[in-house]
Amino acid sequence: MDIKKLPKIELHCHLDGSLRIETAVELAKKEKIEIESYRYEYVKDLLSIGEECTSLDDYLTKFYLPNSLMQSSENLKRIAYELLEDASKENVKYMEVRFAPILHTQNGLTLKEVIKAVVDGIKKAELDFDIKGNAIISCMRSMSLDHVYDSIEAGKEFIGQGVSAIDLAAVENKGFAVDYIDAINLAKGYGYKVTIHAGETGFAENVIDAINLLGAERIGHGFYIYKSKEVYDLVKEKGVTLEVCPKSNIDTKAVDSYKNHPFYKYYKDGINISISTDNRTVSNITLSEELESIFNTFDLTLDEYNDIYYRSIKSAFCDEETKKWLLTFVN
Ligand SMILES: [Zn+2]
Repeated sequence: MDIKKLPKIELHCHLDGSLRIETAVELAKKEKIEIESYRYEYVKDLLSIGEECTSLDDYLTKFYLPNSLMQSSENLKRIAYELLEDASKENVKYMEVRFAPILHTQNGLTLKEVIKAVVDGIKKAELDFDIKGNAIISCMRSMSLDHVYDSIEAGKEFIGQGVSAIDLAAVENKGFAVDYIDAINLAKGYGYKVTIHAGETGFAENVIDAINLLGAERIGHGFYIYKSKEVYDLVKEKGVTLEVCPKSNIDTKAVDSYKNHPFYKYYKDGINISISTDNRTVSNITLSEELESIFNTFDLTLDEYNDIYYRSIKSAFCDEETKKWLLTFVN
């Protein structure tokens, strides 16, 4: 089977973790970023994790350089455009790109300008390539509650016009959700869909909170739901979709191999899953490579793949017209 030719949907991909290395080299020179070398291999080491990665915190250090390069509308638009271009080449038909606007305001861009630049990049790619996309606004749990409200307000006018959802990302403490109830309710009132990073670093109960307190329709990772029957049953019963990113979980040492990743058991037991890369450059992976490992490890059948694709359509935060179009690629 030619995996590259399969139609694909990617619902969980961070813009700042998915820069082309060549572009990072070029922009580092252009922006005169002080790094030891502009050589491709050196920059690649700054952006991608190697064997030495020991934890999620370690993994997150790979975002330092990208974020210093993503402080102008021009660069943001280009990076979003190129991400969709690269994805379209491996037959990704629909992609949701997430980013935290607050991280791109260091040189004076407003939150709204940041969001507009990324949406413009996605729209331009939609015109040039056979792919559609939406942006998800991530808010950082490591930063103030104020920026969550500010980001929600800034993205409001783009809902349905390139922005589809709100997300909480970065460090995951036990019981984090309670602090965000009002903010996420406000976002839902404006029309944002909700996906939340939860159950990524050991706390299964955070998934219950993300669903019951924050109304998450999808969960970023949800890796640890097996640790609690209550959590597991809730995810299953509510039909919440897990945005599964196996290589990222291996990189952050949540699991040691594809073989031991629990998502296939979840899927066989009737839980909705979708497969994504999380961070293409940091994890040094494409969606095709991710799928190839999965096909090889679990003897996934084409029918199962099509079923996962279909479930991904159902849980995608896009309009009905796009869903209909996505359905034309699968029997
Ligand atoms: Zn993520």
